[in-house]
Amino acid sequence: MTGKKEIDMLDKDLFLLAKGSGRYIAATVVLSVVAMLLNMAVTACICNMIALAAEGAEAGGYVIPAALALAGVILRIPTGIAVNRIKASLGAKVRKELRTKTYDKIVSLGVRTTEEMSMAGLTQVSMEGIEQLDLYYSNYLPQFFFSVIAPFVLFSVCVFIDWRTSLVLLACVPLIPLSIIAVSKYAKRIFAKYWGKYTAMGDGFLDGVQGLKELKIYKADARYHEKMNEKAEEFRKITMKVLVMQLASTTIMDLVAFGGAGAGIALAVTGAVNGYLTPFEALFLILVAVEFFLPLRALGSAFHVAMNGASAGKKIKALLDAKQPVWGKGEVGDGDVELRNVTFSYDGSRDVLKNVNMTFSKGITAIVGKSGSGKSTAVGLITGALRPSDGQVLVGGKTFDEFSRESYYSRLAVVSYNTYIFNESVRDNFRMAKNDVSDDEIYSALKKVDLADFVRENGGPDKVITEDAGNISGGQKQRLALAVNLVADKDIYVFDEATSNIDVESEAVIMENIDALSKKAAVVVISHRLENVVKADKIYFLNDGAVEESGTHSELCAKGGEYAALYNTQKELEQGYLLYAKGGAAL
Ligand code: ADP
Repeated sequence: MTGKKEIDMLDKDLFLLAKGSGRYIAATVVLSVVAMLLNMAVTACICNMIALAAEGAEAGGYVIPAALALAGVILRIPTGIAVNRIKASLGAKVRKELRTKTYDKIVSLGVRTTEEMSMAGLTQVSMEGIEQLDLYYSNYLPQFFFSVIAPFVLFSVCVFIDWRTSLVLLACVPLIPLSIIAVSKYAKRIFAKYWGKYTAMGDGFLDGVQGLKELKIYKADARYHEKMNEKAEEFRKITMKVLVMQLASTTIMDLVAFGGAGAGIALAVTGAVNGYLTPFEALFLILVAVEFFLPLRALGSAFHVAMNGASAGKKIKALLDAKQPVWGKGEVGDGDVELRNVTFSYDGSRDVLKNVNMTFSKGITAIVGKSGSGKSTAVGLITGALRPSDGQVLVGGKTFDEFSRESYYSRLAVVSYNTYIFNESVRDNFRMAKNDVSDDEIYSALKKVDLADFVRENGGPDKVITEDAGNISGGQKQRLALAVNLVADKDIYVFDEATSNIDVESEAVIMENIDALSKKAAVVVISHRLENVVKADKIYFLNDGAVEESGTHSELCAKGGEYAALYNTQKELEQGYLLYAKGGAAL
């Protein structure tokens, strides 16, 4: 079965992905057949009139065929409009349905990244991928069924005129799908690669933009630039390959289609010359011959778009089928969050966290380490978005299948570098955390993050924040996100790179709040910048997925290990950068 599925001209999984599209597709196919029959009727009438002219018929003889041709042309208009309308509504339906499904899934997974896909990959697939899939359903699938039916409809009409020509035409039709199948295996590989390169480029770009400040600090921006250039070049090359392949396969299809029509036409002409076909019949067959091939030819063109959509569809399906973390029903217990002998792998082949032990108690606990050392993965495990491949994550001594997500989230708040602020009023954003939040509570939280005056002077709590906080600065957005989390009394706070890429004042405000919160709650701080965790009660230094060192800042510095080395390097770099920046300003 898998061998056969390689061909994939009609992917069952994809067909089932957008349920309820069958009716639309059937209506499009029926109307397309009607349109084709009308075309044939008009062609017959015209052939008839030409034959009449050749015979030198009276003017009156033209009335009936001319009237019928006109009627056919007029009827053809609403049919064409209806086909386009149905295709458009099918496209809209598919887009809406798949967008809702992917959105719901991403929300229910509750993670920025799933095990299968990165954030950039998700964005590309859920935006452009769905556009491509729209074409798969609204163009490719109706065309697929129409292409199968059309030659038989034509044959059943033409066979009454001349069985030989009709049979030759019908027999040549399968050559087109055979040529499509021949290139499809190759095309599929290229398209899979194309999407791979595309998402890799997107990932790199997103990472680069998010980490621009760090890249500048570490003077790694030029190297990153080169890396991005390489990725873009790889993408250009694969795009060119896709285009060359499409062009080559279109040429092959044209040769087959027009070759087949040519054979039919030659036979019809022979029939007319030999006298077993009337000029009217021969002319009709000549004009209709190419119609046998056009639907499949159009399918061939749509096929490449469809393949692209099918690749995207597979990714969407993988996302929709992604395992959802299991939660229990009970109440979460009081007490520490603990990672006990935790090993985690995204793909089952490489352990990203290796036998990690961490405890998060009242006070500040920091997780630090270089990029890729496993910090975000640890956050995923703490929040319950990811589950350990081995070992246990415990909250108050209970595992995730013993309490509900709601119960845990009533204790837990996460402020991350990409916390989303909704396109609603300040008040509405606060309501997400506490439904009946009062103005006093809002202002008291805003005061803690030094935003009270800003909000008061800029329209109060009913001021609308534009999409993802576009009308406030990055630092203000982070402070607002923190304030939202301050109104509900939580006892576990996770700050995941919450001070990345923001201004110094905002960073200081957030650090002050972290200090204040740590007096009454367990605060987990993830930061690649070690200066931010100097005050932590405990620091876990991750290296390549393992806790390499742990202790307080002074303990780790005294030890003179990897942590101390990284701290000193960062300090020197930042001092150098500050001197450089000051020098620049003085110039
Ligand atoms: P950090 O936050 O310290 O930069 P991460 O936890 O993001 O580190 O990544 C740890 C390792 O896991 C890296 O090698 C990264 O490539 C890999 N990784 C991260 N997210 C995924 C994912 N969704 N799928 C597969 N591998 C991933």
